[in-house]
Amino acid sequence: MDIPATSEQQDSILARLRAAHRAQLPSYAQRMDDLARLRAKFKQKLDEFAKAMSADFGRRSYHESMLTDGMTVLSEIDSMRSGLRRWMKPQARRADWIFLPARAELRYQPLGVVGVIAPWNYPVNLALMPLAGAIAAGNHVMLKPSEFTPRTSQLLSDLLADVFPSDRVATVLGGADVAAAFSALPFDHLFFTGSTATGKKVMQAAAANLTPVTLELGGKSPAIISPGYPIGLAAERIAAGKFLNAGQTCIAPDYVLVPEDSRDALVAALGDYVRDHYPNLRATEDYSSIVSEPHYRRLHELADEAQAAGADVRVLPDARAHDVEHRIFAPTLVTGADVEGKHDSLRVMHEEIFGPILPIVSYRKLEEALAYINDRPRPLALYHFDNDSERTRRVLDATIAGGVTVNDCVLHFAQSRLPFGGVGPAGMGQYHGHASFLAFSKVKPVFYQTRFSSMALFRPPYAKLADFLAKFLTR
Ligand code: NAD
Repeated sequence: MDIPATSEQQDSILARLRAAHRAQLPSYAQRMDDLARLRAKFKQKLDEFAKAMSADFGRRSYHESMLTDGMTVLSEIDSMRSGLRRWMKPQARRADWIFLPARAELRYQPLGVVGVIAPWNYPVNLALMPLAGAIAAGNHVMLKPSEFTPRTSQLLSDLLADVFPSDRVATVLGGADVAAAFSALPFDHLFFTGSTATGKKVMQAAAANLTPVTLELGGKSPAIISPGYPIGLAAERIAAGKFLNAGQTCIAPDYVLVPEDSRDALVAALGDYVRDHYPNLRATEDYSSIVSEPHYRRLHELADEAQAAGADVRVLPDARAHDVEHRIFAPTLVTGADVEGKHDSLRVMHEEIFGPILPIVSYRKLEEALAYINDRPRPLALYHFDNDSERTRRVLDATIAGGVTVNDCVLHFAQSRLPFGGVGPAGMGQYHGHASFLAFSKVKPVFYQTRFSSMALFRPPYAKLADFLAKFLTR
């Protein structure tokens, strides 16, 4: 087991990574080889990772781990490897006409050493996806995985030590103190995934070094069901997105906006979903535990407060499904809220839930639902269920969110050709696929002057030609 690094040790790890980067910039061949070795060794250890995550959570669905932490990372590496040669090529740009025949281009350069801080909820995905992007762009990387998933973080450290020389990629283990010292290091770029509250601290620490940051944060992501959309289908897809990893997903639908006259049908359909898909919630390996006791307790506090305030709190299939010992928190619906703000003061209505509690907010007119979203902090994700493409376009134009899936949940994250990132309190910057390559590169503009320069016509002492040019160019 690695010992948490002191801040002096972290300084010297960064110095080692930086010196090696200066001594030799990673070539295209090296990056391709690094990514190929990472892919192969990671693939070999997939089962070990799934077991470690399950042990860290208490119980975590093997199949969900394979999909969300396995497949996503492998396909991200594949998309990096297939795009890299094209992305690295300098891009010609036309020089502005008055400077012709000069030419211009964009060149893509590695930034240097990138710091990556990862959370616990998808501890492999959210460490290795940014890491793969930083490596593809030719950087060296220092990673700080989460302290809440210690077995997985140790396995990540072992994997990376096996794949990379220690002056190319290094892992630092430890809790909030280590993380605070980590975010104060003068990286060339700092990539952080975690809560909005910690994101503010990270940005403050990075500001002291003017280190640029990408912040992938949280928030409340709404799902809107529009009038007339089949309720059974919406319920199935919302439930699948919400109960994946027991709701511990940054882009899980946090709450649902539903037409008032469809609310009861939605509640019934969500109940059917849970009965059909988790016939024995306490025993099934398909439903994950809440990661820690404080996180578990917090969810009960949210539900208890809502109940005490008179909201209808419904545990699915019933309250006996909760299992304190194994931190199983059964799917829970909170109904009775509306767009007029009934129950707005409840924590469940304004805190990011990050667990399997689903508030259902009813509305009469779609405009009210949109105003409800726009009155609140900008969400990381937005889900819209609608078969009317004109109305869908109106909803897309009227709202702003980090990313959107129409007629399903979560899946925009898994598209290697779509950038992923938040807006406002949900974060800044974006990554995945080509967007990662750009996030971790200096896009360097270069202007090439020729033997003949049009600027030679504009030299002091300024006379008639300069008079003409000054007038012509500012006409
Ligand atoms: P967190 O903010 O508590 O911790 C994230 C990481 O930050 C951990 O590695 C932790 O050690 C480190 N950290 C703790 N204190 C720090 C400090 N003072 N300075 C620097 N780093 C510090 O988040 P969490 O509980 O692990 O994750 C859950 C949150 O992450 C949720 O809000 C969720 O929405 C968000 N999240 C966002 C995304 C996304 O892609 N936008 C993905 C997953 C999770």
